[in-house]
Amino acid sequence: MKHLVTVLFITLLAIISCNSNNSEKKPEYVLVIHGGAGTILRENLSPEKEEAYINKLNEALLAGENILKMGGSSLDAITEAILIMENSPLFNAGKGAVFSEEGIVEMDASIMDGRSTEAGSVAGVHTIKNPILAARAVMENSKHVLLTGDGADSFAGKQGLEIVDSSYFFTVDRWKSYKKAKAENEIKKYGTVGAVALDSYGNLAAGTSTGGMTYKMKGRVGDSPIIGAGTYADNSTCAVSATGHGEFFIRNVVAYDISALMKYKELSLKEAADYVILNKLKNIGGSGGIIAVDHEGNYTMTFNTPGMYRGVVTSSGLIDVKIFGETEQ
Ligand code: ASP
Repeated sequence: MKHLVTVLFITLLAIISCNSNNSEKKPEYVLVIHGGAGTILRENLSPEKEEAYINKLNEALLAGENILKMGGSSLDAITEAILIMENSPLFNAGKGAVFSEEGIVEMDASIMDGRSTEAGSVAGVHTIKNPILAARAVMENSKHVLLTGDGADSFAGKQGLEIVDSSYFFTVDRWKSYKKAKAENEIKKYGTVGAVALDSYGNLAAGTSTGGMTYKMKGRVGDSPIIGAGTYADNSTCAVSATGHGEFFIRNVVAYDISALMKYKELSLKEAADYVILNKLKNIGGSGGIIAVDHEGNYTMTFNTPGMYRGVVTSSGLIDVKIFGETEQ
């Protein structure tokens, strides 16, 4: 009898310690951001520019983390992080968006709530200062998922969002890139911003915002506002935001594919992301990457390009920002 009690006691201790290990392992919150993937090489980036990117990524992470730390939602955290990047001329989203064939800005953005799988997007907008807010307004205050062009611009105005003259988005650097692309008659990939988060209630969210590609055709829509391609979130699997050659991401339904591999094939987040980005996409010439976090707080920043502006912050005290180098998780 005494022996049985001892065995039961030891078993109970083992269960308690196993559970506490698990809860220690699972972070309360995680926020991952990106500022675009591409041919980002150290030799092409001055130390001042590199520092500016690092500082801005840190600022976006800390602002988002502040919300999560105070018990805010993953949706609010990703919105805040994306707003900071949209307002910075460093990134191809909001201020600093690239120019299309006709020398105009046509921006795309989307957001998805992993708890309800509700989503909202805007595409080809010209005058909304922060397209991510318009995407969120479509999700929260309309009966639709995707609004385009003038309809999206005027909806945002009616929602009380800030409307600006399209000259607001202009930067000299983007104009120079546009002139070069036009002279070479070549569409250039540039970048995008995105964020994914897990909050302390176990809810996932993802958002993406972009100016698209330099010298793209008027009316071209990339993967960023396409739910399932550039953005996806489902509490039962993961939240994903993509960056890269949009046409390939649309054709391969990249963000949803990662979630589906987890759901139907029971792959881990890392296995699913590695398969889609480093094998499937790479093998057909689709360059780019994703950031993602799963419902357990595992995260990945996976890309098949030389670099990706990226960063992560977690409740365990980790904060890390990187630009160059290999995929890591
Ligand atoms: N995915 C974006 C697009 O194709 C561009 C990028 O992320 O670089 O519009």
